[in-house]
Amino acid sequence: MYLVEHFYSIQGEGKFVGTPSIFFRFGGCNLRCPNFGEYFIKGKKVFGCDSVRAVNKRLFEQEWMRVDDAKELEKILNDHLEHLDFRPHVVLTGGEPLLYWSEESFYEFVEYLVREGFIVTIETNATIEIDFESYPAYKEVIFAMAVKLSNSGEPYEKRVNKAAIAAIAQETAYSFFKFTLDRAIIEFDAYDQIVDIVGDYPEIEVFCMPLGDRIEILRKHDKAVAQFCMIHGFIYSDRLQVRLWNRERRR
Ligand code: SF4
Repeated sequence: MYLVEHFYSIQGEGKFVGTPSIFFRFGGCNLRCPNFGEYFIKGKKVFGCDSVRAVNKRLFEQEWMRVDDAKELEKILNDHLEHLDFRPHVVLTGGEPLLYWSEESFYEFVEYLVREGFIVTIETNATIEIDFESYPAYKEVIFAMAVKLSNSGEPYEKRVNKAAIAAIAQETAYSFFKFTLDRAIIEFDAYDQIVDIVGDYPEIEVFCMPLGDRIEILRKHDKAVAQFCMIHGFIYSDRLQVRLWNRERRR
């Protein structure tokens, strides 16, 4: 299991926007989402999402810390807590943290967080199916299901796993969907794509947020996404971390 970074900030997206949270960003992803951005890194043009450091192991290997024991993660958590006199949320993100869902060290950490009473969100692309019966601590977790649409550049069969979504929807008390939209997909068929994914779950909240890891890109799409939400009854989510800190790391 690889940890890329950990930091204390506020949640910038989805249901818990503005909530003080300790983030654990895990390395590795089963997708690439090449249409989400273009970066120049070490003289190379790299395509991918704003979490490219947590996706591209080849380019960022020196930042990936191998973790073999849940106790290492517990220690990191408790080091952060030393500076606080309240319990923040804990967010497990990536990359795709569920690459590690059945690894002993990852699951033991989730069990620890649940046992200690933390509110835990796992941010996932919801393509990996969890066995909730054998790993029941996941039932106590909130899943932010950031299922990818066609604007990610990934083919449908890679980015949508309805069995994985159904397991989360049925086994957790509260989870939500979070989609990334841009003007072009809104004008094309974003609504149909979203309904295809969420249509079976009218009780689950749907958040839509604008594409953009930089404020100028965010501004290109934000109003169109807000209007789209108003028309269809979805919930607008900003990317508060971009709005406040733009491209600063560990935010
Ligand atoms: S699924 Fe998420 S972390 Fe993985 S490449 Fe796509 S946007 Fe990045």
